[in-house]
Amino acid sequence: MGHYCRICRLERPNEKFSGKGHKNHTCKDCSKLPKVDREKEIHLEEISGYFYQSNISKKNILRLQLLSKSKVKEVASMAELVHEVGLLHPRKKRRMKFLASTQRELLKKLSAIGLVYLYTFYENIEELDMFDQEEAELNDFYDEENLW
Ligand SMILES: [Zn+2]
Repeated sequence: MGHYCRICRLERPNEKFSGKGHKNHTCKDCSKLPKVDREKEIHLEEISGYFYQSNISKKNILRLQLLSKSKVKEVASMAELVHEVGLLHPRKKRRMKFLASTQRELLKKLSAIGLVYLYTFYENIEELDMFDQEEAELNDFYDEENLW
């Protein structure tokens, strides 16, 4: 049985973890990475976590605001986008439809960084269930508007 490393996102054998590494979910190889690289992965995971949870809370929004000031460009830009989503539509429910109908540019940006990658393959619309059980309506929406 291995252990999941949150940095390389791989299941690694136990001997690849020190005692401390086990606790931090960071394998020995990743522990050798510069701190900034480790932090980047942790922050990206945190930010996408906010996006996928059922509601982006006010506390999360403040945290995202802080992360959007990150010196790491990837972290800053993802935080900025999710921050914007949090302000516009904190609840995940019906968010995709809202974004598709009113915030197409934002949606494209979210898609560009991989947060809503399924959108570019919207013919697999039933997979959007992972975002929202009620988004089947999007099929009709796209048929009508022929958006993409
Ligand atoms: Zn690792």
